[in-house]
Amino acid sequence: TMDEAEFSRAARLAHLRGAGLAKGDPIAPPLVMASTYHLPGDPAGVSHQYGRPDNPTVEALEAALGLLEGAEAIAFPSGMAAISAAFFALLKAGDRVLVPSDGYYTTRLVADRFLKAFGIVADTRPTATFADGGFAGYRMVYVETPSNPMLDICDLAAIARGAHEAGALVVADNTTMTPYGQRPLDLGADIVVAADTKAPNGHSDVLFGHAATRDAGTAEAIRAWRKLAGGIPGPFEAWLVHRGLETLELRFDRMCGTAESLAPRIAAHPAVGAVRYPGLPGDPSHNLARTQMNRFSFLVGLTLQSADAAERFIAGCPLIQPSTSFGGVHTSAERRARWGDAVAPGYVRLSVGCEPAEDLWKAIEASLDDLRD
Ligand SMILES: *Cc1c(COP(=O)(O)O)cnc(C)c1O
Repeated sequence: TMDEAEFSRAARLAHLRGAGLAKGDPIAPPLVMASTYHLPGDPAGVSHQYGRPDNPTVEALEAALGLLEGAEAIAFPSGMAAISAAFFALLKAGDRVLVPSDGYYTTRLVADRFLKAFGIVADTRPTATFADGGFAGYRMVYVETPSNPMLDICDLAAIARGAHEAGALVVADNTTMTPYGQRPLDLGADIVVAADTKAPNGHSDVLFGHAATRDAGTAEAIRAWRKLAGGIPGPFEAWLVHRGLETLELRFDRMCGTAESLAPRIAAHPAVGAVRYPGLPGDPSHNLARTQMNRFSFLVGLTLQSADAAERFIAGCPLIQPSTSFGGVHTSAERRARWGDAVAPGYVRLSVGCEPAEDLWKAIEASLDDLRD
């Protein structure tokens, strides 16, 4: 077995499966499409009994995600399925949950439309001042940092300490950072949830998610929810995410490095108003970002003069794919106010992809220059 102290997670991930192979086994995990397994007689102790709880391809992916998280990982068919599992497996009538008012919109909708109906009270607070007011009375404190789409951040370690003192479970949505960029479980969170739809898969062709925890009872509850409620990931999607994970470190490093080099140049362009990027020394989240994030992320928020200027910037840049979502190999962007987010009409969330940085800058600069005509 590979020494945790000696090798990085990325290095160990590349050889995780290889370490257990027999002569003649495929290096890549087989894609096992199975709803049923050969199961004569007494089923007790047989590893694979039925497709809802058991699939070898999903298990290979969970092993890889588990290595990256340093925790037990449970795979889900989407990020929202993982988030919903954390809610529905761990909350009950009479509980209170605190969620960000400026995080992923659908998380708030689930809390508001469905948790409420089961007698769970859901309150909201802005990410930038999330700890203000304390956590007394909460069963679950759910954070997202940096928040999507405004890229505010909150202090994970301080929130985990305060929430634990109040007896609450801490859930962190780590989608924007991935396990390479930020490690909420190391900072005290009890559960990480994430949309692997984004950078972990990275190729804009799969919806996927996972929850991870170091507490065996919590993992059992989330796994039981998945098995009984039936939101099971498909083997082919799991196989694709496994393939994506093998290059995540490489892609994430390139994407964050390019974002770091572009953000100051975008901020200095005369057509651009405010820029949000945790890596910029003037950003309100910069000091905290330096202490709790390993990288400053691949997302850059820029505010242009108007909705029209923002749309023209996106449409006029040949190396920007206009689309919602983020984390793909292709640089993409969208004007978030088109979905009703509480941001300026000209606010653009740019997801920096894997194109060579100077090509990307040339295209972005030209499209910003055109706004002045
Ligand atoms: C996309 C996203 C989700 C939801 O993921 P899906 O795979 O679309 O269900 C949750 N949280 C954040 C921060 C996201 O960006």
